[in-house]
Amino acid sequence: MKSYQEGMERLLFVVQELSTVRDIQGITRIVRTAARELTGADGATFVLRDAGQCHYIDEDAIGPLWKGKKFPIDDCISGWSMQHREAVVLEDIYQDPRIPADAYRPTFVKSLAMVPIRSSDPIGAIGNYWATFHKATELEVRFLQSLADSTSIALENVRLIEDLRASLAELERQLGLRDEFISVAAHELRTPLTPLALQTQFIQRLIGAGRLLGHPLENELRKFADVSRRQVADMVKLVENLLDASRLSLGHFGLSPIEGIDLAEVVRKTIEPMDSPQGSLLDLQLQAGVKGTWDPVRLGQVVRNVVSNAMVYGLGKPVIVRVEATQGGARLSVRDHGIGIEPEKLHRIFGRFERGTSVNRYGGMGLGLYISREIIQAHGGQINVESAPGAGSTFTVDLPVTPGRPAETGS
Ligand code: ADP
Repeated sequence: MKSYQEGMERLLFVVQELSTVRDIQGITRIVRTAARELTGADGATFVLRDAGQCHYIDEDAIGPLWKGKKFPIDDCISGWSMQHREAVVLEDIYQDPRIPADAYRPTFVKSLAMVPIRSSDPIGAIGNYWATFHKATELEVRFLQSLADSTSIALENVRLIEDLRASLAELERQLGLRDEFISVAAHELRTPLTPLALQTQFIQRLIGAGRLLGHPLENELRKFADVSRRQVADMVKLVENLLDASRLSLGHFGLSPIEGIDLAEVVRKTIEPMDSPQGSLLDLQLQAGVKGTWDPVRLGQVVRNVVSNAMVYGLGKPVIVRVEATQGGARLSVRDHGIGIEPEKLHRIFGRFERGTSVNRYGGMGLGLYISREIIQAHGGQINVESAPGAGSTFTVDLPVTPGRPAETGS
């Protein structure tokens, strides 16, 4: 056997090794060798309790023992050790009635020492075996018991990791179901919206062409058509955002960049038809001729998202929209003087379904900035925000003249 000093050093090393293993095979590999080395025994077994049975899951010995076999817990010495929460030391195994002699006869074993793993409610045992008569010393049993205690902690860790893995897998499954639902719901919602939008447009055109002049309900119809148009447009925006979010999660989101796109033009065209819910004044500071190879439709989407947020959260104060050339690129910035964003929410608002305000006060699904960031990143650019509560917010988009990684964005 090893000296106290050598044994302690070996134990320390084993404890360290056990603290880093992540699966049961790793524990088995370490324990079966360490058990033998610590005592200098001719063989060692690693036994785990499996309901009413003792499962000899692994061994390291000079001759075959019982690897892979299971014995009833009442019928083997490891079972006795577990049930009585006690170490067993036998100098001559055949003198002890607890030993199932038939199982031992084909083996080299003459003496043994067995310790339970986990003292409160044992979950296994570690066995040591000698081919010559040997009475395990107190020190040897103490070494074995310390090994069993560390094994118990390692087994608990592995169980926790396995539980965690199972929870993560379940979470991923649930997220997959959510994405699938969003995709189906968005497609289902879009189907009736298209004819609805056409019908409201038709009514507006009739009114615009003076076809309802003098009609007793002309004013009511005009109001109705206007409200319907705005509400249908809001619905279309929500559904389009849902569809984009689901395309992004499925990797079906592509860019169609075109050369010579003028950023100021994109901003102007996007902003023109937009309503300002709180009547914010838009101060456009658009440098002409800032051009690049960009997807104008997707950039328009970013402008719409960021500018409409500035108007929603801008407390009706002026919003400055700037376009300027930078070294090797272009910058779009949107500055409002509204409610601002709390520091702890700043990094979250670009996440999917992340909202920074109470849903009762401001609507929205928390998708606009997520989609915007994806669009900008697909162009090889960046979107950032600077904000403080009560001081307003500035969203800044930096774009390279040519998309940085166009090849990655197609589907
Ligand atoms: P939604 O699609 O619901 O509008 P966004 O992704 O565009 O959501 O925005 C996420 C959150 O970021 C919003 O719920 C809001 O709290 C915050 N936010 C975005 N823009 C501004 C802004 N200009 N001022 C203050 N808060 C903002």
